[in-house]
Amino acid sequence: MNPLSTFSAPKGVPDYFPPVSATFTAVRDTLLNSARLAGYGYIELPVFEDTALFARGVGESTDVVTKEMYTFTDRGGRSITLRPEGTAGVMRAVIEHGLDKGQLPVKLAYAGQFFRAEQPQAGRYRQFHQVGVEAIGVDDPALDAEVIAIADEAFRRMGLTGYRLELTSLGDSSDRPAYRELLQAFLAKLPLDEETRRRATINPLRVLDDKRPEVRALVEDAPLMRDHLSDASRAHYEQVKDALNELGVKFVENPRMVRGLDYYTKTCFEFVHDGLGAQSAIGGGGRYDGLMEQLGGQPLSGVGFGLGVDRSLLACQVEGVQPGDVARCDVYGVPLGDAAKSRLVALSAALRGAGVRFDLAYGGKGLKGAMKGADRSGARFALVLGERDIEAGVVQLKELASGDQREVPLVDVVIAVREALGR
Ligand code: AMP
Repeated sequence: MNPLSTFSAPKGVPDYFPPVSATFTAVRDTLLNSARLAGYGYIELPVFEDTALFARGVGESTDVVTKEMYTFTDRGGRSITLRPEGTAGVMRAVIEHGLDKGQLPVKLAYAGQFFRAEQPQAGRYRQFHQVGVEAIGVDDPALDAEVIAIADEAFRRMGLTGYRLELTSLGDSSDRPAYRELLQAFLAKLPLDEETRRRATINPLRVLDDKRPEVRALVEDAPLMRDHLSDASRAHYEQVKDALNELGVKFVENPRMVRGLDYYTKTCFEFVHDGLGAQSAIGGGGRYDGLMEQLGGQPLSGVGFGLGVDRSLLACQVEGVQPGDVARCDVYGVPLGDAAKSRLVALSAALRGAGVRFDLAYGGKGLKGAMKGADRSGARFALVLGERDIEAGVVQLKELASGDQREVPLVDVVIAVREALGR
């Protein structure tokens, strides 16, 4: 940080600027594009909503709602919360605008910032970015598999290989209550500390996910939901796995998986990257069959995911893969003198009009300074123009990596540049 600067970004909030911001947008666009290829339409939602929407939608007993929401009272005395996740807002919009009145499933994708007042650490921020999808209104295991495959396809397209997909089923409203009682009865017999005992009564599943070795040892033989699924839930789960196999998506089963949000039913999944340390989840999601009704809508099912853009970016850095293009332009103009500069300025409109990313050395830099600018821009080619070139009606097209240079007639420069770029 500049020691003379008075301001810094709030704690736990990342800035993204060039060149890393190019990777950031490439990661986000790759995730969104994968959803687009499967017919999901884009939805842009507010970053703040009524507090009650999240309290009811995410779950009153979750850490997200009890400890992590950015909640404030607005000037009209209303309680407002910066969105901690995307699904509740999508449900609100679907219900409010009657998007579920037409063809089902409603397929929507979103991207943007989310806010949780967590303790910042590597990969855990207070403002973070997700790309999410929701498919609402059809309870078809093949749709669960589609949602998962969209994420997998995007991660692969980025070039990531060091992640795994973990999968389980959490049962539904018919088999989960009985399992919950079974688990609570098991936990009640264990010598747990006060806090964990309390958690066991509010959300017993959460205890299965405890990271402390002594608690892990105690719950080793705990009953697992996977072994207590109803026939219908089991059949659903088997069909999701079959569909994933058909799609060529690899997964491992993790019957102890617990998600931070209360609304999941049946299918539940998480993408975990081994190179990220403690904050290893790069995305997760599942089915949420009771949520829409709980928020005042029709009793429609839903399935979706939220993928972490920040952590996917970190995963790309850890693996040394580069989705997208970090160069900020294709071609860089190097004018030698004022006349050359005006010619290159005029040329910039023609090149950009032809879809070529073009920048040039502003500020009257000499040849050396301008060539440095060309290198830093990441451009593949420089267009070097001197007074003698203008007289001859040519410009020098120089490939920066090899240093190869050739003369191109000024009138043909757009075609020549496009050809050189392989377009
Ligand atoms: P969740 O909505 O909790 O299921 O989170 C979905 C994904 O968002 C996670 O797998 C992470 O990749 C990402 N994510 C969640 N919380 C944070 C955070 N505080 N900082 C960065 N990424 C996050």
